[in-house]
Amino acid sequence: MSTVITIDDLGPEKIIQINKPRTGLQAIVVVDNVAAGPSIGGIRLTPEITLDECARLARAMTLKNAAAGLPHGGGKAMIAGDPSMPEAEKSRLVRAFARSIADVSDYIPGPDMGTNESCMAWILDETSRAVGLPRVLGGIPLDEIGATGYGLVIAIETAEAHSGVEIEGARVAVQGFGAVGLHAARFLSGKGARIVAASDSAGSISHPDGLDFETLAAIKKKGQKLRDLEKDGVVTGSPESIVAADCDIFIPAARPDVITTDNARLIKARLVAEGANIPASLEAEQLLHDRGICVLPDFIANAGGVICASVEHHRGSESQAMTVIGEKITRNVAQVLEQATTKNLTPRAAAEQMARKRIEEAMRLRRFG
Ligand code: NAD
Repeated sequence: MSTVITIDDLGPEKIIQINKPRTGLQAIVVVDNVAAGPSIGGIRLTPEITLDECARLARAMTLKNAAAGLPHGGGKAMIAGDPSMPEAEKSRLVRAFARSIADVSDYIPGPDMGTNESCMAWILDETSRAVGLPRVLGGIPLDEIGATGYGLVIAIETAEAHSGVEIEGARVAVQGFGAVGLHAARFLSGKGARIVAASDSAGSISHPDGLDFETLAAIKKKGQKLRDLEKDGVVTGSPESIVAADCDIFIPAARPDVITTDNARLIKARLVAEGANIPASLEAEQLLHDRGICVLPDFIANAGGVICASVEHHRGSESQAMTVIGEKITRNVAQVLEQATTKNLTPRAAAEQMARKRIEEAMRLRRFG
């Protein structure tokens, strides 16, 4: 397990390494910063866990939660294991993990890769704190209602004047048709945009006249691949080829590191709304910015999910969650774009300044540091 991490003025506040050979539990928890309130962040269940990755993800949550103006700091946990292990085994492991962190009251776990609503229910059982719970336990199923996709569309709408791209009539390409991408496509179609390209792990499809959202959603619901769509004039390509799609709005909503300095010049969109976490390198974002392309950074544009989780934690309803997502993302995107223009920064640099300022202010008020 890698043990090298960066420590700076923001954190981490606390690092916990758990090793219980008898139960086979190996895990890491990083509570990065709690100035604004107890940290919220997902638990990744994955074969490889490293302190470095856990600390970087915890810091990303500190920035995302601060940028969203939530009363929460950032944290993250990783449990070593095969995410496809049998349910009973997973329950044993996750419950053992939860008991180990029962006293770490400044970390509120949420779902992430390899964990889901059921895991959060088990954790609630053992520790009385978790977000992303099943509906029957008072949870708001954020992936089912499309909280992150909704927030992305609010971000795009707020950026209309800045980017010069109006949603109505815009041509949209969506990479990844899962919880984030599918719902972003749904909300955009509802506002009059045309989905001209979409992709999943098997490949991409495009049609200059547009693809019908309901047909694409029905294909995914049946467990098929987008390439199974039967429609005259549809062009198919590799999963990566969608980056160069002829469109006005490009939404990476699948994997990290898909926009690089090698392919950034191929992007034809005038606006990129980052649904996935770290889909572009910093250098690639700078290249896009220099080309006059508006890039809405991940931790501002894809915060809908964690805002929803926070509303759930504070006992809010589903409709309140959507309202809060709308208010917070509208305010933040407007502020970030205004600062980026005034200070001649990329939107990401402006967003990081905004988030850091909020954290430092919270630390001063709370007499941290
Ligand atoms: P998901 O598993 O529901 O969907 C992922 C989609 O991406 C699937 O359609 C899959 O087929 C597709 N995909 C995988 N590899 C691909 C490739 N190489 N090219 C094109 N498509 C590919 O995941 P999700 O919850 O939609 O999350 C997507 C991304 O957004 C992840 O990076 C995640 O960390 C990030 N994110 C998710 C949320 C959320 O609320 N779910 C919030 C913030 C950030």
